[in-house]
Amino acid sequence: MQYIGRFAPSPTGPLHFGSLLAALASYVDARAHQGRWLVRIEDLDPPREQPGASRQILASLEAFGFEWDGEVRFQSQRHPAYRDALQRLLAQRHAYYCDCSRKQLLERTGSSRYDGYCLLNPPLSESSCAIRAHCEAGEIHFEDSIQGPRRYRLDDCSGDFVIRRRDGLYAYQLAVVVDDADQGITHIVRGSDLLDETPRQIQLQRYLGFAEPRYSHIPVAAAPDGQKLSKQTFAAPLDNKQPLPALIQALEFLGQAPDASLHDGTPGELLSWAVVHWQPARIAPTLSKPAPLD
Ligand code: GLU
Repeated sequence: MQYIGRFAPSPTGPLHFGSLLAALASYVDARAHQGRWLVRIEDLDPPREQPGASRQILASLEAFGFEWDGEVRFQSQRHPAYRDALQRLLAQRHAYYCDCSRKQLLERTGSSRYDGYCLLNPPLSESSCAIRAHCEAGEIHFEDSIQGPRRYRLDDCSGDFVIRRRDGLYAYQLAVVVDDADQGITHIVRGSDLLDETPRQIQLQRYLGFAEPRYSHIPVAAAPDGQKLSKQTFAAPLDNKQPLPALIQALEFLGQAPDASLHDGTPGELLSWAVVHWQPARIAPTLSKPAPLD
């Protein structure tokens, strides 16, 4: 089976050290397995996007020496595929319309966890409704190649999750599963902040008859206060003029030990070294690690 990996950033801002880790680990793992590596821009949520961010992200990837295969895919161009998947889920009763507002839910249950009300009491009209996937009873387990075996229960209606929002936007969970399957992704390497999203994605893959990719969740880089580095916590954008120091720090964060002679090379040389010397077993099996200090 040919290995196909991917990096799937959301264009909510420029790349930062945390996103570099996901790009680097997914790229090097793919190339070390003679695999393909695809880039997919997850531009599903225009209100959260920053103008120009997609262009900036691709420019950073190039400056950092990453070479992707094929055309970059944009999720904004993929709405018909998401609509088809939704229709299938609705027709098979794996999904249902829901018009509960957060406020109603809170008043009814005292919590924001969904109680399955609309599964039993379908809304009279489907307009301005969200669509939720209904979770099957039972356990979902998978073996993460870094974090080890993971077991989850998504059942009891509280697990029913939104796959199309009330405002008509498709949710990440649906789009990611549809595109990973359509692009034939076999291996997903990404940050551990998405580890607990994985069982929902597996649930959708089962409903839609898609193959389950192999998952590897790398530790996320934590800011000194323990928070994940993210655009929201104002992690500094990558400096495209100086890719080498950040690439070296990122490889070290992933437990790899680039030798000093590489410090004067090009990003492409460093990446080639990383592919040849890749030791995924040296990635710490933890959910987060302190980010390197500058
Ligand atoms: N677009 C998601 C993000 O930037 C990542 C999706 C994924 O790797 O599954 O957080």
